[in-house]
Amino acid sequence: MTTRGNVIGVDIGTTSTKAVIFGERGKVIASHAVDYPIIKPHPDWAEQDPDLIFSAVVESISIAIQNANILPHDILALGFSTAMHSLIAVDQSGQPLTRSIIWADNRSVKQADRLLKDMNGLEVYKRTGTPIHPMSPLPKLLWMKEEAPELFQRAYKFISIKEYVQYQLYSTYIVDHSIASATGLLRLDTLDWDEEVLQLVGISRDHLSDPVPTTHILIGMKQEFANKMGVSPDTPFVVGASDGVLANVGVGAISPGEAAITIGTSGAVRTISPVQKTDEKGRTFCYALTDNHWVIGGPTNNGGILLRWLRDEFGSPEREVARKLGIDPYELLTQYAEKVPAGSEGLIFLPFLSGERAPYWNANARGTFFGLSLHHKREHFIRSVMEGVCMSVYAVALAIRDLTGPIQEIRVSGGFAKSPFWRQMLSDMTGKELLVPESHEASALGAAAVALYAIGEIDSLERIKDWIEIKHHHVPNKENTSVYLELFYMYERLYNCLKDEFDAIAAFQRKL
Ligand code: ADP
Repeated sequence: MTTRGNVIGVDIGTTSTKAVIFGERGKVIASHAVDYPIIKPHPDWAEQDPDLIFSAVVESISIAIQNANILPHDILALGFSTAMHSLIAVDQSGQPLTRSIIWADNRSVKQADRLLKDMNGLEVYKRTGTPIHPMSPLPKLLWMKEEAPELFQRAYKFISIKEYVQYQLYSTYIVDHSIASATGLLRLDTLDWDEEVLQLVGISRDHLSDPVPTTHILIGMKQEFANKMGVSPDTPFVVGASDGVLANVGVGAISPGEAAITIGTSGAVRTISPVQKTDEKGRTFCYALTDNHWVIGGPTNNGGILLRWLRDEFGSPEREVARKLGIDPYELLTQYAEKVPAGSEGLIFLPFLSGERAPYWNANARGTFFGLSLHHKREHFIRSVMEGVCMSVYAVALAIRDLTGPIQEIRVSGGFAKSPFWRQMLSDMTGKELLVPESHEASALGAAAVALYAIGEIDSLERIKDWIEIKHHHVPNKENTSVYLELFYMYERLYNCLKDEFDAIAAFQRKL
């Protein structure tokens, strides 16, 4: 696929904002990232400075354009991707009254609990598609009302970081359906704010931006910022969507039956459905992409962080050997894991070291090794940890399958995808073919795709697949799949048996 010029995807992430310029055939011709910190004023809080992020947006675009050495008329459009769930209270003049309270902020645990137990939370989830969890703006707003009432009353609007950036550039308060669908405040069926939820929170629709489609085009950027970036004020800036849903587009998991699995520090499984779907049991999310693309999926807390934990807490011998050999300690750890057969000879690991989100949504869940015998060695532990991570994403994939039907093909990304052994393990665990796309910047590419679609340069999002090269391909080993299946059922039973004990041990740990 060839376009008539360049398109820029701007990905406002949790650690940095990255602007990526894709050329006429999808080649990355320049990119630039600007980092910023997460601020933790309390152990449970996670905030970021909205002005620092706004400067990062302007700077990343400006430097990427300089690096590419292109002129405003060479740019067809820009598109935004942004992390979900952020919340900023602003006053009438647009000045922030709070920092950006991000998805990782857990201050509203009590409010989320109450929403679920006493305030019909499951029904709210079914209408809005956002699981009731402290990550999302709905419980955060309740927290603000209860714990910072003066600030809550003073707020003119409650917005996300994307709306903040767009307001600085265009002086307008709009929110795309995708970001809005991850607030817990938007009805999926009407794509409008949910009056019942607004009443529950004690705000009116005037406190929120106007919802618009993800293909909405902004023009008329303030001259000052257009000059700084090196674009024309009338270059179309497409509002785009959230980073999660755009990552699916950017890896090419767009049609029904195609799932994307990302395992970085944490993990996520997502698939795109032509219709909205929420889960009777509240296990999955449903976020908007376009009128006929809905992203159904679930996040897990326990991804690559577990191998990192193993490396850092127990892997000093491997770290030492790896240092001498000049290789990555992860490589050595995975080489050890390869010495034992699939199933780690009956050592099962429940990987819930940081509690769990999908499919169990249980903050009290904890890690467990089960089936230990004198026979088990160091390498069994390493392998069972890696298998536990695969089981946690498989559990999410099964919950999604219940809603959308069978998954045929899985496209993977994230740090774990660097390991051919771990990728094969996931293919065996799920019993599905697994593809590794080239794209390192899936969300930025997804934002670029929505931008091209919005300006009519491509007639469907699926066209972007032409730009995505497949680097590796794994086919499941049937014998391993049957071993894993047997152990996976045990894993699920173990979780259910241990639920009460998880509550007890978590309560004990909280007392310490
Ligand atoms: P983040 O989402 O935090 O940016 P990454 O996508 O970089 O994280 O993934 C980091 C995780 O990927 C590590 O914690 C580790 O589990 C895994 N990982 C990275 N490199 C390798 C490797 N060579 N072999 C196996 N696992 C790896």
